[in-house]
Amino acid sequence: MVDHELPPGDKWRQFELQALGFRDFAGVRTDAALDPFRLAKFANLLVVSFDQIKGLSSEARVHLLGAGSEKWSGGACSRPLPDGRRIVILNPNHGRMRTNATLMEEISHVFLGHQPSRLKVVAETEGGRTISRDYRKADEEAAYATGAAALVPFGALRRFVFEGRTALEIAKHFYVSRELVEYRLKVTRLWATYRAAHPDPKKT
Ligand SMILES: [Zn+2]
Repeated sequence: MVDHELPPGDKWRQFELQALGFRDFAGVRTDAALDPFRLAKFANLLVVSFDQIKGLSSEARVHLLGAGSEKWSGGACSRPLPDGRRIVILNPNHGRMRTNATLMEEISHVFLGHQPSRLKVVAETEGGRTISRDYRKADEEAAYATGAAALVPFGALRRFVFEGRTALEIAKHFYVSRELVEYRLKVTRLWATYRAAHPDPKKT
């Protein structure tokens, strides 16, 4: 087995190992960006655009894309299609860099074998109800953390930090938000090293 670079802490090592497995499966190079849209089909997920959802009132649509837009990022439907795939809907206002993390979290739920703990209705259709999945809190953390590690792997992240790259540069490289890179720097305990190299938050 390859001797992977892993972050400190048992929990974070586990997340990293799972994430490295996802990256292996996707056939992506150590330092390269992972495209979750290519991985989605292997998780049996079908990404549909928000415009394709039927049965939403115009008020609901206006709310979800307007005042409520910051409150949701996306989700998967619990009822599979006849061919076994599940539908994932992503917030079209959030842009590709944020959407990559949302989709990667949904893929992680599938690959990690999480079972939804309860169901909630997100939309009514003529044919019945569309239902979104909801997971236990520990599963939510694992899916988000593992997805983030798959998008921004520790080994490459650490190398970039030591090369003096900024969070924004790293974000552009991996095609994710700067916030996601900062989250990864914190959970992998690279934050202090990073901050020492970039003391002014306005310049990163
Ligand atoms: Zn989730």
